[in-house]
Amino acid sequence: MTARILVVDDTASNRKLFKHKLEQKYYQVELAASGHEALQILEKETIDLIILDVMMPIMDGFEVCKRIRSNPKTSLTPIIMATALRDSENRIQGLKCGADDFLCKPIDDISLFARIRSLLRLKMIMDEWILRDNAAKKFSLEGRQEPPMADVKSGNASIYIFENNQADEKLLQEILRSEKNIVSTLNSSEELIEAVKTQDIDMLIISLEVTDIDALKLCSKLRSDNYSRYLPILITAEQTNSDRLALALDLGVNDYIIKPIEPSEVIARARTLIKRKRFQEKLKENYETSLSLALTDSLTGIYNRRYLLNHLEHKIEAAFNTDKPLSVMVLDIDHFKKINDTYGHDAGDQVLIELTQRIEKNIRNIDIVARLGGEEFVIVVPDLNPEQALDMANRLRSVIAEDVFTFTKKDLEISVTVSIGVATTCKATQSQDQLLKHADLALYEAKENGRNIVTQHNLDASTSPIHETREKA
Ligand code: GH3
Ligand code: MG
Ligand code: MG
Repeated sequence: MTARILVVDDTASNRKLFKHKLEQKYYQVELAASGHEALQILEKETIDLIILDVMMPIMDGFEVCKRIRSNPKTSLTPIIMATALRDSENRIQGLKCGADDFLCKPIDDISLFARIRSLLRLKMIMDEWILRDNAAKKFSLEGRQEPPMADVKSGNASIYIFENNQADEKLLQEILRSEKNIVSTLNSSEELIEAVKTQDIDMLIISLEVTDIDALKLCSKLRSDNYSRYLPILITAEQTNSDRLALALDLGVNDYIIKPIEPSEVIARARTLIKRKRFQEKLKENYETSLSLALTDSLTGIYNRRYLLNHLEHKIEAAFNTDKPLSVMVLDIDHFKKINDTYGHDAGDQVLIELTQRIEKNIRNIDIVARLGGEEFVIVVPDLNPEQALDMANRLRSVIAEDVFTFTKKDLEISVTVSIGVATTCKATQSQDQLLKHADLALYEAKENGRNIVTQHNLDASTSPIHETREKA
């Protein structure tokens, strides 16, 4: 995970030390000796994370933090504040000013890189979200209403604690409840495994000193099981156990807290992990809806041209591999312009919807119908020989022509007919373009010959015989 990190510190030796440590892990480093300099750099450059000293002359870290948060360009950039050891009051003020987490001076490497990693993961997910959101806006997907980023908050999370020390358990509960979370406690590793399987959990807190199981073994199991692979895990550990923390982080634990428990640290770590989980969920949700919006037609809800072309390519390949026939039908409403002109555009839309429903009711599961645009539909039909495909097209033609379309709301009865062009191949050696082109040609012939007609091109026959049928409705 590479990133550009801005270090803001008025002491030259601190800047040098940070630069050295960060560059060893291949991070790009920018340095600022004052709040003003930091704000100038942030204006010009794209920074992924900020490490900010609290004690600075003229403009202190809190003020810098507030200004970074109030600028839309940097309002989401993670900020780690470097404070004196266990300076509770400063940390609480830091949280209020919008800091994401803290580091104690002197800085130790494990905590430095744990904080950085955790916050960069959150940043990456937020960036991805913005990227996809912009892409979706470019496609101008209708009906898309994004909640603002600020709506993704960390409260109201379901948090489970597995802690051997009762006083710490109680303290954790209090702190997390003060952040409006729902907190439960666990008494054994069996209970924990059961909860993970059956409950909707947003975060786990596990003490490295639990006694009924090796906590690292437990974490390793949680990371390898499907239902807990991505579950945020926060570790609590005694100072004396800190050598096992690096191991825990390697196993995929998300972050840790060293005892004695410091409320601001619990709040900061929990907020970051829960926010990240929520962004991840949103991303997935948005991805799925934007996917379906990008591939379906907003009026009728069936697939659109983009999906159809993709699908058809796969179907041709499958038909070729299995040596089975494939047909493509292009269906077009006859004199649809007249329907619009006579009954209005709204009625025209209703006809398109009702027509879609009639088609869907009369095709098989393995057939796919898509709206190509306007009043033109395509149906992809595998596995039927030319005669069967022609029969099916005729059945569709007649279920549309036989019964008038009625719209009770406007007390309307509209007669609708369609013409259908069918292209069938039994050897599946035709390209997608060829199939569509022949179905289009067949449709054109059906229109030429009087409409309410099915015309078929059998692409394998040497002399391209054309079947043509018309039945009076
Ligand atoms: P033909 O039998 O030759 O197909 O004649 P037609 O009138 O159906 O064909 P034409 O291409 O001349 O007109 C199609 C009409 O379909 C024109 C257009 O305004 C209308 N149309 C296209 N999309 C929509 C839509 O989403 N809703 C409605 N109500 N009308 C649409
Ligand atoms: Mg038409
Ligand atoms: Mg047309």
